[in-house]
Amino acid sequence: MPTFRTLRPTPTSLFPDRQLMFRRRIAVIGAGAAGLVAARELRREGHGVVVFERGDSVGGTWVYTPAVESDPLSLDSNRKVVHSSLYDSLRTNLPRECMGFSDYPFVAVTGNSDNDQRRFPGHPEVLRYLEDFSRDADLNGMVRFRTEVVSVEMEGEGKWAVRSRKIDDGLTGDESEVYDGIVVCNGHHTEPRVAEIPGIEIWPGKQIHSHNYRIPQPFLGQVVVVIGGSASAVDISRDIAGFAKEVHVASRSYCLENPMKQPGYDNLWLHSMIESTNSDGTVVFQDGSSAHVDVIMHCTGYKYHFPFLKTDGIIDVDDNRVASLYKHVFPPFFSPYLSFIGIPWKVVPFPLCELQSKWVAGVLSGRIALPTPEEMMEDVKVFYLEMEHAGRPRRYTHNIADYQFEYDDWLASQCGYPPVEEWRKQMYESTAKNRIARPESYRDEWDDDDLVAAAHQDFKKFLFSC
Ligand code: FAD
Repeated sequence: MPTFRTLRPTPTSLFPDRQLMFRRRIAVIGAGAAGLVAARELRREGHGVVVFERGDSVGGTWVYTPAVESDPLSLDSNRKVVHSSLYDSLRTNLPRECMGFSDYPFVAVTGNSDNDQRRFPGHPEVLRYLEDFSRDADLNGMVRFRTEVVSVEMEGEGKWAVRSRKIDDGLTGDESEVYDGIVVCNGHHTEPRVAEIPGIEIWPGKQIHSHNYRIPQPFLGQVVVVIGGSASAVDISRDIAGFAKEVHVASRSYCLENPMKQPGYDNLWLHSMIESTNSDGTVVFQDGSSAHVDVIMHCTGYKYHFPFLKTDGIIDVDDNRVASLYKHVFPPFFSPYLSFIGIPWKVVPFPLCELQSKWVAGVLSGRIALPTPEEMMEDVKVFYLEMEHAGRPRRYTHNIADYQFEYDDWLASQCGYPPVEEWRKQMYESTAKNRIARPESYRDEWDDDDLVAAAHQDFKKFLFSC
């Protein structure tokens, strides 16, 4: 894969000495990691902030629930949506030092034996961190819980009508208010993408998307095909292998001529993609092998979804490209009054959301200037053309794995902040290498203790000041 770069100099300028020019009333949609840090940065900049959250607590994705949706593939548009896609056994795939916000280290809380002290902790520890962050930054009072945004519509330049409804309230109807700006932080791990499988209409087995996977016990004695090569596919296939009769992982990443047994397992095989599915229940793989299968599990990712945005098609999701966003944040012709935090993927999300939020907050106050809408649109067009020339599919528009730290550093430079810490960059790389070298045990064995020490040295300035 060629290194994909889009960060050219832009006419953006920075005025660090300038007094706050605008104090705006901003609606933030969602109180996950992105919405929380956006709220903090907007308030720091002097804006008035209301955070709308349809759940009853902060944390978004990290609020685990055993509940799943009525349609295991989540295709039914009338289903009751469950937000989180976490499975019970989930541990982070990034080390905690790397994951946390820049000035609020994600360190283990000592002195309570119930706390998860591990470097790659289970999901309750991440939720604990986000709850602590929200409490310590005094954000809870800004959040309207159990309040879903149902529509956001422009009323005139810089004015947005926000319609929201209380969930399960029964007493109040929809509420309409006007805001100066909207910051969209609604997450992108809730609306499943399902694989297209030849012959699936006549195949008699069950299908489920990983969004609705929680525990492996229901797969006891079954033959399961897991589609996908992502972290979830790797975790879930191993989780299920402890109970299922056989697990077959089919992925584009494996170009295999024959099925390969996963070392350390006697019932887990890796295959190339599915060739066909048949009415007798068999699944045939492109490597020529086949199996009689009970369940197909789609670990095939998610779609961006903004059902509340009424922008007359000006913002469009096409093959998982949110078009058009300048630097993955600002739609040029709605900027700076509409912005999106947390769109890039294959990244370290919390610090990235923090930098995007600082940028948005500074632009909204007029302290940081944006190029003109025409210049931003031109930048986006060049970016799309570069993708096309590099042969990158449209659905990878927001996959910035190849340049995430360059992107972070660019954001930091716009805001007058220092670049991302060197230890964080190196730790991300060393974890990626370790994950390949020790796929089964990378969360418990590593070789980068020097980077952990550097991180803790850096954290001292924040921990002592708390
Ligand atoms: P979310 O956490 O999804 O929050 C969005 C919020 O918006 C939710 O609270 C939702 O209720 C609310 N909302 C949505 N629509 C509306 C509406 N219309 N009105 C009001 N509220 C609304 N990241 C890591 O750093 N490390 C990991 O190890 C890691 N593992 C992951 C494993 C899985 C299985 C998944 C799915 C993700 C993982 N991530 C991981 C990425 C994770 O998504 C981010 O860490 C982060 O939680 C994203 O935060 P967010 O605020 O953008 O979205």
